[in-house]
Amino acid sequence: MKIYIIYNKLIYNAYYFIKGDDIVIKKFASYYKPHRKLFILDMFCAFLMASIDLVFPIATRSLLNDILPNGKTRTFYIVIGTLFFLYILRAIFNYIVDYWGHVVGTRMEADMRNDLFSHIQTLDTKYFDETRTGHIMSRVINDLREISELAHHGPEDLFLSAVMIIGSFVILLNIEWRLTLIIFTFVPIMIWFAIVKREKMSNAFRNVRKKIANVNSQLENSISGIRVAKSYANEEYEMRKFSEGNREFKESREFAFKSMAEFFTGINFLSNLLNLLVIGAGGIFVYKGLINLADLVAYLLYVNFFMQPIRRLTQFAQQFQLGMTGFERFIQILEIKPEIVNKKNAIKLTDINGKIELKDVTFNYNEKESVLKNINLTIDSGKTVALVGPSGGGKTTLCHLIPRFYDVEAGDILIDEKNIKDIDIKSLRKNIGLVQQNIFLFTGTIKDNILYGRPDATDKEVIVAAKEANIHDFIMTLPNQYNTHIGEKGVKLSGGQKQRISIARVFLKNPPILILDEATSALDNETEVKIQAALEKLSKGRTTLVIAHRLSTIKNADNIIVLTDNGIQEKGKHKDLIKKNGLYSKLYKLQFKDSIKNDVAV
Ligand code: ADP
Ligand code: MG
Repeated sequence: MKIYIIYNKLIYNAYYFIKGDDIVIKKFASYYKPHRKLFILDMFCAFLMASIDLVFPIATRSLLNDILPNGKTRTFYIVIGTLFFLYILRAIFNYIVDYWGHVVGTRMEADMRNDLFSHIQTLDTKYFDETRTGHIMSRVINDLREISELAHHGPEDLFLSAVMIIGSFVILLNIEWRLTLIIFTFVPIMIWFAIVKREKMSNAFRNVRKKIANVNSQLENSISGIRVAKSYANEEYEMRKFSEGNREFKESREFAFKSMAEFFTGINFLSNLLNLLVIGAGGIFVYKGLINLADLVAYLLYVNFFMQPIRRLTQFAQQFQLGMTGFERFIQILEIKPEIVNKKNAIKLTDINGKIELKDVTFNYNEKESVLKNINLTIDSGKTVALVGPSGGGKTTLCHLIPRFYDVEAGDILIDEKNIKDIDIKSLRKNIGLVQQNIFLFTGTIKDNILYGRPDATDKEVIVAAKEANIHDFIMTLPNQYNTHIGEKGVKLSGGQKQRISIARVFLKNPPILILDEATSALDNETEVKIQAALEKLSKGRTTLVIAHRLSTIKNADNIIVLTDNGIQEKGKHKDLIKKNGLYSKLYKLQFKDSIKNDVAV
């Protein structure tokens, strides 16, 4: 059954390969183009290698037949010398095939990886909501590695095996056609066996890799959560979970070794049988006087060559499957088209005032529930508007609509009276500074991270930005100051320090529009005060949309908007809203009690 599927797949793909109209094959072939000279060199050398291999049995045969028995010493030395020379050539070709063949594959792989990476960068935020990072990683790394292997080994293996098998078949036919036909009936059986068993073996080992990944993640999970496990006295439960995974891992390995043993034992047994067939059938042909001993030796030598092409063919069958599946997945990602793209003649935003208007904005992540419905909101240039409301009310979502991480479903968002859908996306985003609760710093130095705001800024500008963000003094206490590495191999920063670095980044970017989405909510009270000061400085002179979990920090906003699941509930200045005694006033009083407690505690 399995062999039937593999066979079908091979035939199917060979058909499209020849017809050349399958998108997958076409695309695959297009990656050879830039490297075609190297590829042809690789194939040519592979051909020469196989041809040289075919010479040795012929030479041996004529040595035994004629040269040695008749004492032709001169010819003997010529043959030996020629073989020596050919083997040196073969070594050179071998080197080229092994080295440059892999180089072709690697270069194609690098091209594909670049294409994939730059394509992924263009995809919408929505794609990343729906796709796990690990999933994307394995696409970019593992799949492409399989493709690279197939890219050069594939044609090479097919070609070499074809030359070797067909070449020896033709030569042997010329010696004794009947004996040759008898022997060659055995070859398809060997190839069939090898492909089936190898497939089984590689599936088994793939399963092992899956199981070990399970064990790894379980281990990681349990170790990082060890305190929780201990506090719930759940060590035994953890142990049971672990030993389950461990047992599956063990069993998968046992099965893999079983299939490995089947494969190698079978192949060795079959190749012994093949030798026996040659000696047995060949011996009878010798008794009958149809061939002589030298011919028999030639048969033996050729037949032992088969092992190599057969191994190559089975390898090809396996690589073809892995590589093509990988390549199909690669194409699938390339075919995802981003929805949020520039319109033709998109307007470049320069020197803007920064007035923001939302007109009847409606947005949903999915059909089931509506997150934002008919929202109307205006933020005049240079003013600060605060958005408050219960968690899940859609505040963050609203923030993400302005830089077009998502597109509104209905309604319009305007900046300086221009619809953001008509604005060049990069220039739109360059004009907006976003400070969020989950801070992300890239691996690298502190300076790299601040420079991310404007990569062409000077060192002086970086320092000015850090000073504005109240982080300069801290940076100066670090061992390498601005060049200190952060993250795993560098210093560990507190949440507040990270946030101030990300604020310095926005200072450097210097955008006219600012969005602060709970920028301080993950921090402790004391740090919050420091960051609040930096944020206030940052928002001076910029159109600012601020979301804060602590209502005391937004008292001075020009307008406060209370957003709930049911849309905008209240609007107005702090004083007016308090007077109104509605939702805002309720929320504020609740928090005010807390903050008095906190203040006492501090
Ligand atoms: P807030 O910031 O006010 O707490 P959010 O804008 O984060 O609210 O979320 C509003 C609603 O949208 C919530 O019900 C939330 O579960 C949902 N939501 C948020 N982000 C996504 C997303 N990427 N995909 C689907 N639903 C989301
Ligand atoms: Mg939020």
